[in-house]
Amino acid sequence: MSEYAALTIDVELFSQTPAYRAASGSTDRAGIGLDGLAFLKDSLEDANATTTCFVVSEIAETHPETVRSLSVAGHEIGSHTYTHRLLTDLEPGERYEELVRSKETLEATTGTTVEGFRAPAFDFGPDHFHALAAAGYGYDASVVASRTIPGFYGGEYRLQHPAPATHIDPTAPDSITAIPTSVMPGFRLPLTGFWLRLFGVRYTILGMKLLARRGIAPVLYVHPWEFVDLPDVEGVPRRVTFRTGVWMRRAVERILDQPFAFRSLRRILADADIRTGSMTPTDSEETDLDDRSTIPDSEAQ
Ligand SMILES: [Zn+2]
Repeated sequence: MSEYAALTIDVELFSQTPAYRAASGSTDRAGIGLDGLAFLKDSLEDANATTTCFVVSEIAETHPETVRSLSVAGHEIGSHTYTHRLLTDLEPGERYEELVRSKETLEATTGTTVEGFRAPAFDFGPDHFHALAAAGYGYDASVVASRTIPGFYGGEYRLQHPAPATHIDPTAPDSITAIPTSVMPGFRLPLTGFWLRLFGVRYTILGMKLLARRGIAPVLYVHPWEFVDLPDVEGVPRRVTFRTGVWMRRAVERILDQPFAFRSLRRILADADIRTGSMTPTDSEETDLDDRSTIPDSEAQ
């Protein structure tokens, strides 16, 4: 085992997702996702792996022991805002509150320093890196260099490896490093989230290998609610619930079985050379998956 990878967790409840908030229906079930988080914690421990948990800090207020136990187990705690509202829907003052209040709450809950941040739905505005620096963060994991997907995200960035945030925004403060969430080289769709569930686990594992070959540590992300049986809620799109529950549990077990050292982003950052940009693949090296026919068919495991 030599190559690093990160299976990061965006610790949010199903009730905090934009899809649920926008739905016409609702559910009485509370804490949807907490069981999934317990499964992930056990699976990481079984695989001798650690990770970064980007936590919505409301959860640290309602379930402090749950969040504390992640830190005690050796996982890095990062912020995924206070309420998981989309940052670009908020006024600058509200955005700053989401960054500052979440950091303070998570630090008070776990007794650790929170350095990392990931924006809900990879959504951030032009003042983002300045706001992070003002709030005392050291790195950001909100960039996903995906192709443009209407209604999702992407299109603006090509960054595939950790780099100073000035690679994304030339005016960004020097103190902020950007750690992009991985996409399939050439094909440019994320390796996890909905795309893992759509294309199957072999797609994700192939992408991890291609990135490792380029000297890039794959950065994956999962949500605890993807690992539980979700209630039927009117208005929640089918793609949100597709292959959640047992399917995802098996998929993550196979990913953790791969010959990577799964570690936190802080640990990966400590070993990365973020100054030279020497890990930047050239465009010509990125073409091997432009042919969509090479993507493995979805599989039910
Ligand atoms: Zn989220």
